[in-house]
Amino acid sequence: MHWYQMENKKIEEATHSDIENGLTSAESRERLRQNGPNEIADSGKRSPIMILLTQFKDFMVIVLLAATVLSGLLGEYLDAIAIILIVMLNGILGFIQERKAEKSLDALRELSAPMATVLRDKEWQTIPAKELVVGDMIKISSGDRVSADIRLIETHGLLIEESALTGESISVQKGQAPLEEEELSLGDQVNMGFMGTMVTQGNGTGIVVNTGMKTEMGKIASLIQNAETLQTPLQIRLEQLGKILIMLAVVLTVLVVGIGVLHGHGLTEMVLSGVSLAVAAIPEGLPAIVTIALALGVQKMIKRNAIVRKLPSVETLGCATVICTDKTGTLTQNKMTVTHLWAEGQTWELAQKPNDPPFLKEGHPAKLENESSLRQLLSYAVLCNDSELVEGEDNAVTEKGDPTEIALLISGQKAGFSKQGLLSNYKIIKSFPFDSTRKMMSVIIANKKGEKFVLTKGAPDVLLDRCDHILWNKQKQLIKKRHEEHVKEAILSLGNQALRTIAVAFKPLRSDNTNTEAEQLERGLTFVGVQGMIDPPRPEVKASIANCQRAGVKTVMITGDHVVTASAIARQLNLLPQDGQVMDGATLSKMTEEELIDQVDDIYVYARVAPEHKLKIVKALQKKGHIVAMTGDGVNDAPAIKAANIGIAMGNTGTDVAKEASSLILSDDNFATIEAAIEEGRNIYENIRKFIRYLLASNVGEILVMFFAMILSLPLPLLPIQILWVNLVTDGLPAMALGVDAAEDNVMRQGPRKPNEGVFARGMGWKIISRGFLIGIVTLIGFWTILHGTNDLTKAQNVAFMTLVMSQLIQVFDCRSERSIFDRNPFGNRYLVLAVLSSIVLMLGVMYIPFFEPIFHTVPLSLHDWLLIVGLSAIPTLAFSGAGLFGQKEKEKSPYTRQA
Ligand code: ATP
Repeated sequence: MHWYQMENKKIEEATHSDIENGLTSAESRERLRQNGPNEIADSGKRSPIMILLTQFKDFMVIVLLAATVLSGLLGEYLDAIAIILIVMLNGILGFIQERKAEKSLDALRELSAPMATVLRDKEWQTIPAKELVVGDMIKISSGDRVSADIRLIETHGLLIEESALTGESISVQKGQAPLEEEELSLGDQVNMGFMGTMVTQGNGTGIVVNTGMKTEMGKIASLIQNAETLQTPLQIRLEQLGKILIMLAVVLTVLVVGIGVLHGHGLTEMVLSGVSLAVAAIPEGLPAIVTIALALGVQKMIKRNAIVRKLPSVETLGCATVICTDKTGTLTQNKMTVTHLWAEGQTWELAQKPNDPPFLKEGHPAKLENESSLRQLLSYAVLCNDSELVEGEDNAVTEKGDPTEIALLISGQKAGFSKQGLLSNYKIIKSFPFDSTRKMMSVIIANKKGEKFVLTKGAPDVLLDRCDHILWNKQKQLIKKRHEEHVKEAILSLGNQALRTIAVAFKPLRSDNTNTEAEQLERGLTFVGVQGMIDPPRPEVKASIANCQRAGVKTVMITGDHVVTASAIARQLNLLPQDGQVMDGATLSKMTEEELIDQVDDIYVYARVAPEHKLKIVKALQKKGHIVAMTGDGVNDAPAIKAANIGIAMGNTGTDVAKEASSLILSDDNFATIEAAIEEGRNIYENIRKFIRYLLASNVGEILVMFFAMILSLPLPLLPIQILWVNLVTDGLPAMALGVDAAEDNVMRQGPRKPNEGVFARGMGWKIISRGFLIGIVTLIGFWTILHGTNDLTKAQNVAFMTLVMSQLIQVFDCRSERSIFDRNPFGNRYLVLAVLSSIVLMLGVMYIPFFEPIFHTVPLSLHDWLLIVGLSAIPTLAFSGAGLFGQKEKEKSPYTRQA
């Protein structure tokens, strides 16, 4: 028997489940232990052994190992063993870096992992979807991704889009009744929900019947593994750059070897030196360090409540020129409180202190029994309401539902209207939930006599168009122009005080047919009145908007609220400049794309818009050359989120669909978090630039010293083992420490980066070549001075060895700033200080521990030698930063090309 054929009782038996109470947590733990997590196995994952082996698969490393074995056979076995050991060490270091990179990526995936609402221990709870087990009762609603295969038990207007499984993009209407047919295709199993499909409308509950690889999705998992691209544009560009660098290193190596041999050096000696040089010069660790820098940066963002779902967006964040943000809950606190009420041309204020008389009219306490329209306004808003105030055991009240509706429940409560109380006299027959395209919600209610009414609440201006009558002087009257003007005036007056407005209307329903569409039902209504509620701005947002402005990023508000309310809040937040435009949804609908593109730069607030408008706005901004960040939470927001350069979903109020479409999730729904993410994104990019600069300048230095020595017909300034050691101690740790450097103080005081900016932009190419050139020169000078003065080749090589290391370790501090080493405290990054100290200790170790002397061909150096080394090593850094002259010149090319 198939799941879809079973009656509820049978499903309960087959899954050992309990539809009423759910599983106990002990039982579900046991099932999870037995059957494993509800996950699709990731076939693309590399095992640690594979990662380790790939460290040694580089062509140059293989050549080096081959050449080393050869030299070992020729009798240089101590050198050979040492070189092999260093190559191993290098490999292990690479392995550790890559593992770390991979682990941090895993941690990221974990963070954006889907959640499920499940009935456990008789209570609905939210748990990670991978912890679901067969027999769990789960709840699904519009915007959710179904998290396991389920047999539906209860459905309310449930539509599920199953194209991931069936290819059919039209949503399927689901129900709960058992089906009789045998061998139904997946698309016809209309009482089942399948893992990975998407709820587009309605809601329902179901029992989990299959999890993980046993689900329909699991069965075809190998077909659908659509690996998210995790590489950022920079990483892709670096990969290309890496190939060029390898070519360059090989060409230079061949040159060095060729010239060396021509000048009388032995072939094996030159080949070994050449290949060691190539291995040292190729920045093989770069991709892993970039990933680590990205991943660690992303961890930092998480601490600031921004969860990055797609790594490339880290880079794009630094390029953002416009943030389009929702208002409610993102710019404001989403803590709604009704403060004013309007009906029949009169206004009441709602007292905010518990002991004050609740309603004031013209400053005096109002008597509710005389205010019938006020009572209607309050009680209808309580009945036409999907939220609840639930009183707990200790009289504590928990609010369940949408803050806008909660505010209406509370204002009703002040007049003694509780939902429970009203429901003892009225029955709700049908409900049409709020949706931000219709901008209203309705219920059909029946009183004890069986008389039916429609109650509607929604955006006042929209609702007014649906009304032909109004309550006026306690009577139902045909709406006349003057009534309309009164209502509009009230909306403006409440809106100007930055209040969100909700109107209430009703009509008696004569027909017994309740099967009509909302569209039809919500017509010919009688307008009752308007409630106005405050939703204070989040205190930190004003400063964030100002910071963004300074950073060349424009903030645009997109809201479903009324134009006047939206403008008032935009002004409070300094988001709307004097000459800034406010556009409403109706006007926007009528505009052509070209017209919008023309005006888009002047518009700061879009009000009374429907989610569909967001896509139009994103497209217009992008056509104007903007890099757009766009927030959203609902199913309808997904297309705009996807189309934006940085799609941002709300962590708390966002649906699965919005989250999946997004590249960034705000775990606190807060606008200030976007600003933080942009700052971190910029900083991560700058840090990557810092260590690319450091590594490449160092490598240029290493190659040039050998190259110049060969041209000048000098002996080899460095032995192969020394070259490899330099590479080992200078590359890994200091570069990683640069990757986690703190931001320079000016990151948010400059315009956004151009998205197509090359790796070497803003003078970095010059910095690499100039510093690298000088590192090569000073190393050669150190070598030559000692060789010339003492004729002691070993000592001269030792001085070159040390100068090469020291000049790199000094240069690393210069890389912290785009401007000059003196621009910020060079020792401000303690990881860097520690990394450099440990590199120095390692260097001194091979120099002064007798065991290493024969291996590294080292001899102790005198104080005089050290003075020479330190003096020379400081030159590449000080020549540019200290001289001021050049420093000044370089300053002009400092970060972020487009000035704010
Ligand atoms: P923002 O985009 O700033 O988050 P929003 O998306 O919350 O705003 P909507 O939810 O679309 O905006 O609300 C638009 C209008 O619909 C509100 O100004 C209000 O008048 C009305 N409205 C909001 N919530 C409800 C509700 N639950 N019932 C009836 N009407 C509502």
